[in-house]
Formats: sequence, C-alpha cells, structure tokens
Amino acid sequence: MDELLEQILRDCHPYTTEGKLANYIPELAKANPDDFGIYIISSDDRINRAGDYNKTFTIQSIVKPILLLLALMDNGIETVREHVGVEATGKPFDAINYSEQSLLSDHLNPMVNMGAIAMCTLIKGESYLERFERLLELTRKLAGNPSIQLDEAVYLSEKRTGSKNRALAYLLKTYGMITDDVEDVLDCYFRACSIKVNCADLAKIGYTLANHGRAPFSGERLFPEQYASYVNAILMTCGMYDGSGEFAVKVGVPAKSGVGGGIMAVVPTRMGIGIFSPALDQKGNSVAGIKALELLSKKLYLSIF
Ligand code: GLU
Repeated sequence: MDELLEQILRDCHPYTTEGKLANYIPELAKANPDDFGIYIISSDDRINRAGDYNKTFTIQSIVKPILLLLALMDNGIETVREHVGVEATGKPFDAINYSEQSLLSDHLNPMVNMGAIAMCTLIKGESYLERFERLLELTRKLAGNPSIQLDEAVYLSEKRTGSKNRALAYLLKTYGMITDDVEDVLDCYFRACSIKVNCADLAKIGYTLANHGRAPFSGERLFPEQYASYVNAILMTCGMYDGSGEFAVKVGVPAKSGVGGGIMAVVPTRMGIGIFSPALDQKGNSVAGIKALELLSKKLYLSIF
C-alpha cells in the first residue's frame, strides 16, 4: 500500500504546477507548491503514508466540520439546525436568483464562510478567545495530537486582509443572525482557520468521522454517532465548495478541502485520509490532492456510490 501511495504521488506530481497558491491571504502565498503528502488510517489500524505527510499547513476550511461538531456537542442537532441550514444552495427549485433581502438560516451552510462565522456564535465559552480555545482543544483531541497550535502569522495575515469575511459577518449582523460584536466573532473564525495541522492530523480526524465518532486505535468515543452522520452527509454534498458534485462523481466520499491545500477525506467505516498540496484550482480545492484521491478511489473502490 505504501508503494501504491508513492506511485500515486509520482503520477499526480505534475498537477502540483497546474494550480495557484491562495494569495488573497498574503501569508498563504509563501507555501511551497512542490509539497505533496498523503496519510491514511484504515479500520484495521493500519497506517500508510507517503511524501510530505509531516509538513504543517493551516487547516483553513477543514476546521468547518470540527466547528460543526463542537456546535452540535454544545447545543444538539435541533438548535444548530435552527441557526444554520444543510442545503447546498438553500434556493427553491425554480429560483432565478435570491436576494439578500431574504437571508434566512436555511440559506446558511456550515461548510461555507457565512455559516461557519455564524457557528462561532453557537459554540460555548465566556469570551470568543475561550470559544476558540475549546475548538483548538477538540481539534487536538480528534487528531490525538496535543501539540497542535495556532499559526500566528497566518492568523494575523487573515485578520488584516479579511474584508470579504467582514462583509459577510456584517450582513449576518444586519439580519439579526448574529448579535455579538462582529470583530469578536471574526477573531474566533480567523483563529479557527489558522490552526496548524499535517496530513496525519487530518487522517485521524477523518477517521473519527468514518468510524462513527470513535478514535482510531483506542476506539474511545469522542462524539455521538448521529453527529458523525450529520457532518458526513453535509461533507458529501457541500465539502468541496462548488466542486462538490464533480468530486462526488469522481471520488465519491465525504471530504473537506481548505485553501491551505489540505483535504480531509472520510471513507465511511473504512478510512480517514489526509492529503496536502497547496496549489489550488479556481474553486479553492487542491488540484493534485483531488487527482490523487481520484486515483486512490479507483484503485481501492472507495466511492460509496
Ligand atoms: N480562512 C479562509 C477564508 O475565510 C478559509 C477559506 C477556505 O479554506 O475555504 O477565506
């Protein structure tokens, strides 16, 4: 299996030059486009890995499923569902366009920024810093890695330049969908996106989702089974941004990507996979990462369809 992974990285390496590094967060443009790594944990406790699986990068949007898990653990499905929807577009079947005049919780998706910013207000904590620290703690626990830290430089870079996220957060405030101080909420969101992980961390977190909430190796229950189903279903339909349909066709497993170049894939009952290659396609997904998952899925019959 390690050889298969080496082979896949070799075959997909040319794709690392096809995408572009995210540069709207200036610090992310400093990544090395040549980095390419993969780490897999399988249900028989086997570990397979290849390439730069040890290199760290910021989690970015892959924190969204963890944020959703914490919101669910703190509030239960019903309350979370009242604030943040589950639909990919939230538009009716005959919608031509929808106006911001009618922004409703059903329009918010937890896997895109507006929904994630709203979710920061759902997690518990005295201050927004404490909320972030609880999220960081959960990330460490799911990854079985107590040394996971914030990337201060990326956090500050994103905080300085995050005008679009500010616009989204103020829109939420305008429609009464968040009531707390916008900058406090955003600070928690920017920190959340700047948690530093590696492929092994993503594989372990993915494995807990694949294994219905139980940790790899120890089998310890980390969160209730129904939350795994809830998160995986949303990852399947929305985890790869507006490339989720294409990804479902070509790879066929729940997954989440981030603009740091990571992808976490969840193969229900079988595997957690972490991949890293920072050059992105126009939708914000790692080009070589998706290619590698496509090859792997074909080889190992991973698609759930
Ligand atoms: N921190 C990034 C942003 O808010 C996350 C985007 C992503 O990874 O999709 O723009």
